[in-house]
Amino acid sequence: MFIELTDHLRCPADHDESFLVLLPDRIEERSVLSGQLGCPVCGRTFTLEDGVLDVGAAPGWSRQDQQNLNPEAITALVGLHGPGGYLVLVGAAASGWREVAELNPGVALVAINPDADVTDAPGISVLRGGRIPLKSRSMRGVVLSRPYADDRHWVEEAARVVLPGLRIVGEGGDPPKSTIDLMATAGGVWVGTAVREK
Ligand SMILES: [Zn+2]
Repeated sequence: MFIELTDHLRCPADHDESFLVLLPDRIEERSVLSGQLGCPVCGRTFTLEDGVLDVGAAPGWSRQDQQNLNPEAITALVGLHGPGGYLVLVGAAASGWREVAELNPGVALVAINPDADVTDAPGISVLRGGRIPLKSRSMRGVVLSRPYADDRHWVEEAARVVLPGLRIVGEGGDPPKSTIDLMATAGGVWVGTAVREK
């Protein structure tokens, strides 16, 4: 995991959003390979092993074969222009991360619950859990693969972590209007922004 990403992590518990404190065991270059992360609010601790942080309760969905979100489509729909920040790939869309990285130079990638073929590497950080363990309004874009995009909880999580005005892309049925302002939809893929809280 990129050491800089630890600044954007949050405790997955339902208390007010809190950062996590990193107690690293092993760091190489700018990657944390092993260590513990602790929440100062509730005292939970999470183990980071092989560069992967697992905060627990990741869904046990099996791999979905129909995936239209290839790296070119992801890049076009998320519409990042210029380097910096983070793009989050939830589920199977992370399998094409090397091409996504080439198409979006200078943008760091975060995989949430990717397939087993995606492991920690320079250019991508791998997180696992039952929600997106990242702070609200901190990411430049979020991509939801099937079946995440069909799950209201995950759509709400994507809307929570994306920076205001930036995009969420999903493969699945249309998202709830109360959460996503749709910009476009075609071929089972949608793109939109988070509905601003009143
Ligand atoms: Zn906590």
